[in-house]
Amino acid sequence: MIIDSLTHILPEDFISNREKFLKKDLTFRCLFSDPKTKIVTHSELLKSMSKSGISKSIIGGFGWTDFDLAKLSNNYNLEISKKSNGNLIPLCSVNPLWGKQALDEIRRCFELGAKGIGELHPNTQGFSDFDNNLDEIMYFASSYKMPIIFHSSEPIGHKYPGKGTMVPEKLIKLIKKYQNNIFIFSHFGGGLPFYSLMPEIKKLFKNVYFDSAAFPFLYDPNVFKVTSIASGYEKILFASDFPITTQYFALKKFNEVTLNMNEKKSILALNADKIYSEVKN
Ligand SMILES: [Zn+2]
Repeated sequence: MIIDSLTHILPEDFISNREKFLKKDLTFRCLFSDPKTKIVTHSELLKSMSKSGISKSIIGGFGWTDFDLAKLSNNYNLEISKKSNGNLIPLCSVNPLWGKQALDEIRRCFELGAKGIGELHPNTQGFSDFDNNLDEIMYFASSYKMPIIFHSSEPIGHKYPGKGTMVPEKLIKLIKKYQNNIFIFSHFGGGLPFYSLMPEIKKLFKNVYFDSAAFPFLYDPNVFKVTSIASGYEKILFASDFPITTQYFALKKFNEVTLNMNEKKSILALNADKIYSEVKN
């Protein structure tokens, strides 16, 4: 079994109303202003999964700034997952700064089957210093063991749309503040797992995981090997970030790395399966 731990699909409305939606939502504008950036619906994801031999995909939203778009995307993920025989696992996404509205939306989605929250984009959503009060949402997520997926940024290297400044230093601040929450930091946490070699950092990672979303654009595939050594293979989740790259290509790159069977199985499926099967809905 292979699980892709982060993919993004959106309903048809986002394709037909792209220009209008770009004006409404800052995160959507940051990520999709370039008309060449693909938006795909579930049918393309399902085709891609069967081509690549991927049995399950986690379908995430983005760190929305507009409530209506968040709801449109959340409802779509929930509806599509219901028709997927358990092959598409839905996340919901909100802006934590919406306060009660954000909490109500998370609760509504959770009751309808959402298994986690994300992807969040703290830069465009306006809480990148984590000085705001996120307590209620964090408490809700930890009570039901819902993981929260955060976009993360490398402090060095090339720029890309939506890269932001969610660098390891900031992620550590978040982990320290909310030690009971399950965090999945996308894009190998901007390099955060490499610091697992420092004992005082490793000790903070009890509930922390790192996904490989978009790794072919960021790292040599040996990032899986290096991260396994530094933080442990049980902390890594294979993710493509489809449709930014194809699932087929991400898997092909993953298979270039020398890992033992146990490491491969854990990264490709078991780690994600464990996290999502423990969600209490
Ligand atoms: Zn991201």
